[in-house]
Amino acid sequence: MRATVMYAAGDVRIENVPDARLIEPTDAVVTVTHACICGSDLWPYKTMEHSDRGRVMGHEAIGVVESVGTDVRTIKAGDLVVMPFAYSDGTCVFCRAGLQTSCIHGGFFGNEEVAGAQAEAVRIPQADGTLFALPVGRDDALAASLLTLSDVMGTGHHAAVAAKVGPGKTVAVVGDGAVGLCGVIAARRLGAERIIMLGRHADRIALAGEFGATDVVSERGEEAIERVRELTGGFGVHSVLECVGLEQSMLTALNIARPGGAVGRVGVPQNETLPAAQPTFYGNITIAGGPAPVRAYIEELLPDVLEGRIEPGRVFDRVTNLDGVPDGYRAMNERESLKVMVKP
Ligand SMILES: [Zn+2]
Repeated sequence: MRATVMYAAGDVRIENVPDARLIEPTDAVVTVTHACICGSDLWPYKTMEHSDRGRVMGHEAIGVVESVGTDVRTIKAGDLVVMPFAYSDGTCVFCRAGLQTSCIHGGFFGNEEVAGAQAEAVRIPQADGTLFALPVGRDDALAASLLTLSDVMGTGHHAAVAAKVGPGKTVAVVGDGAVGLCGVIAARRLGAERIIMLGRHADRIALAGEFGATDVVSERGEEAIERVRELTGGFGVHSVLECVGLEQSMLTALNIARPGGAVGRVGVPQNETLPAAQPTFYGNITIAGGPAPVRAYIEELLPDVLEGRIEPGRVFDRVTNLDGVPDGYRAMNERESLKVMVKP
């Protein structure tokens, strides 16, 4: 089968690899109908050391189950499924607590050990716990939004939950990538009164406005912090969604939370340490978040997608087949594209 293999920073190739197949009796094999390139795929695209074996990339997909192992009970061939970016057994102490990204039998897709979904097919470990069977047939109009339930919509929602967004709250979203934009959707969905988008790309800001952002701050660093304070009577916001992961964005996020506020971080941290230890201490700021247990959120978010109340699929601004994936990485890395959908 054909798949996207990354060998080193900037080196993404479409190659023939061995077919995805059942290995464990708890596995399923899914034919990928829609996958995509993630902002987090750009970290290895910028920094990966050379690997002879390469990494089959991709951790977001919807598709059709082709086959299941002998121990799979709830998922069956023919099901249309969402694949969360992490696999999980669905039964361990952390899965039952709704924290599937800490599953004791779990892990992540798209690394050297577990192949990813920017491919014609993908092997799904722990199929019963991992996959979510959709109650709809294949429908291209809904596919884009359903695909975001694999990662970016669930991750934006997780940022909002971790940041304690609720009715009447003032929220800031740091990062105008697909996750930040989905964070705007999530904040509005959870009842935020005011949503301040920190970003500087005109098309992304426009989309944020359509998703529910009420204010835009295009400054950076100290100036951004001052501007948010100005907009909030000098206090800062109740909830901050940190959707980038760089030191500068985290520093901004921590400094715009008001006393007693919360920062929900979902950008993978690119630094070992958190900045602003003292201001967040004296402000009693909650710092929460991590890899989103998107599997836990699909059930809650799905009705809003199916009934059109939210349209997170609008974050896709480009569609390609597998041959166009290397150029898709380039385009996202150069910020020419917000998020690329892949129809293998
Ligand atoms: Zn588990």
